[in-house]
Amino acid sequence: MGFWGVAVPESVKALAERYGFEYWREKGRMKLFPEEFWIDACRARLPGALIPREYGGLGMNLAELCEIVIYLAGKGFSTGLYPLLTNAMSSLVFMDWGTSRQREVFLPRIAVGDVVVGLSVTEKGSGSDVFSIETEARMAGGRYVINGAKMFANNVERASHLLLLARTTPVERVSKRSLGLTLFIVSTKSSGLTYRILEKMGTDYISTYELFLENVEVSQEDVVGNVDEGWKALVRALNADRIVYAALAIGTAQFSIEQASKYASTRKVFGKPIGANQGIQFPLAESYAETSAGYLLCMDAARDFDSGGRADVKACMAKYFATKAALKAVDNALQVLGGYGYLRDWDVERVFRDIMMLKVGPITQELALAYIAEKGLNLPRSY
Ligand SMILES: Cc1cc2nc3c(=O)[nH]c(=O)nc-3n(C[C@H](O)[C@H](O)[C@H](O)COP(=O)(O)OP(=O)(O)OC[C@H]3O[C@@H](n4cnc5c(N)ncnc54)[C@H](O)[C@@H]3O)c2cc1C
Repeated sequence: MGFWGVAVPESVKALAERYGFEYWREKGRMKLFPEEFWIDACRARLPGALIPREYGGLGMNLAELCEIVIYLAGKGFSTGLYPLLTNAMSSLVFMDWGTSRQREVFLPRIAVGDVVVGLSVTEKGSGSDVFSIETEARMAGGRYVINGAKMFANNVERASHLLLLARTTPVERVSKRSLGLTLFIVSTKSSGLTYRILEKMGTDYISTYELFLENVEVSQEDVVGNVDEGWKALVRALNADRIVYAALAIGTAQFSIEQASKYASTRKVFGKPIGANQGIQFPLAESYAETSAGYLLCMDAARDFDSGGRADVKACMAKYFATKAALKAVDNALQVLGGYGYLRDWDVERVFRDIMMLKVGPITQELALAYIAEKGLNLPRSY
């Protein structure tokens, strides 16, 4: 199925062979970080896919990374790919905005997974409305002191660092709400940083936390980009993030359709394979067509991004459309599997729960549409 994955390196195909459905099913069931996969992926320098070779990475572009994500998600890796994606997205921030010291210190380590980065923006009082964040960083004795709390910080127990957005100038004193925010590199071992686990619906290979920051100190050298311009430092990586999550959706849709098609060919009801009924074929065929369209949208956005173009609207379109296609595909697949779709054995149930996350992250479906309406159609900003 599909016309994708052709250009994926052999090392990635070998990874897919080594970590089959059972591996991900077990990690999810036990709520365990996929340690073995992560070590192997780091050996192949996949967290450094986008990092130039002179910094120890693979020097790939976003389109190439998307192909890899689609391929692995197509093999049932689902949101187990999360740590790879976060390291890759963080590397973009360092490449674009890091000082030469930050680039030299962080990029080679991100590439091999010695540094694992989490992105921490969201707060209880500010999810979609990012600019209303209240975590603040104040200068005291030549260092920044950070106080506040963050929601949905992933993988904190395994991460070494967070890229954390905090307000450095009160919103009343800036000309635009996007200003006055600064991006910091915060060690997860910092004194004053504590966290509480959040129980969630899926993506059980990665733990998610609420973070509390009480007088967490960071040096001025740990600012990425310019003080008060942290949003600017994040935006390009956030566009890439939307595109790469579109790729995750496409791969997961492909996985579900393949599982369901295989099942439909062998499962006999009323004396014939259920796949011989158009009522079974059509939803799968429809999802296949929509997933293929999502693939084209995703790769088009990635290519725009790679050529330095304005990928923002296409990134939102790709994320929105691919997510919608994937949600429908996993739902259709579950239905074709009948009662067995509801069981753990066929993995559709697992990816069904995982992929629900894409309804709200990395941008909600509604905010993606609001952005497309504003920037793509010049309609008044609605948010
Ligand atoms: C598993 C998981 C992992 C995550 N990982 C991270 C991470 O690594 N780092 C991080 O910083 N955050 C992370 N997030 C947070 C995620 O980015 C936010 O949940 C998301 O931005 C939405 O914010 P919110 O949940 O506060 O929803 P809200 O902003 O409160 O919105 C609630 C609902 O209202 C809708 N809505 C709001 N305003 C409008 C409007 N103007 N028009 C139409 N609809 C609107 C939204 O679309 C949504 O459906 C994660 C979330 C999850 C669930």
